[in-house]
Amino acid sequence: MNDTASETIVCTACGALNKAPAAKLAAGARPKCGKCGAPLFSGEPVAARSVADFERQTSKGTLPVLVDFWAEWCGPCKAMAPQFSAAAAMLEPGVRLMKLDTEALPEVAGRFGIRSIPTLILIRGGREIARQSGVMDAQSIKRWTEAAMQRG
Ligand code: ZN
Repeated sequence: MNDTASETIVCTACGALNKAPAAKLAAGARPKCGKCGAPLFSGEPVAARSVADFERQTSKGTLPVLVDFWAEWCGPCKAMAPQFSAAAAMLEPGVRLMKLDTEALPEVAGRFGIRSIPTLILIRGGREIARQSGVMDAQSIKRWTEAAMQRG
């Protein structure tokens, strides 16, 4: 068995680590969590619920995580939300899309030095590999993410 042939996916419901063959994911399989039975992918972004949840999602799995730093008061963030959701449907299961409310989790926003929102940060293995501020449409989010993964 080649280790690179499987992905470790963090369950967004219970946090359990699940192994799935990369080839099956690429072929359209949509596995469920072995511990709680929740689907590992929903086609929608997942919200970071706590600092610990954010840490686990971004550092324990092998999938890159695209994080949307947003806030309730931010008009452009709200304008981008449906575009980010559409991008999740296009980018899963190769990438996990996550929304981070900068008002609810200011520690995380501070650690990444977020100065304007919306800001997208692509994280792999706990490490930032790219960031982009400003509103993007779904296609632009997809293209930008794929280009960043090629480089990073
Ligand atoms: Zn689970």
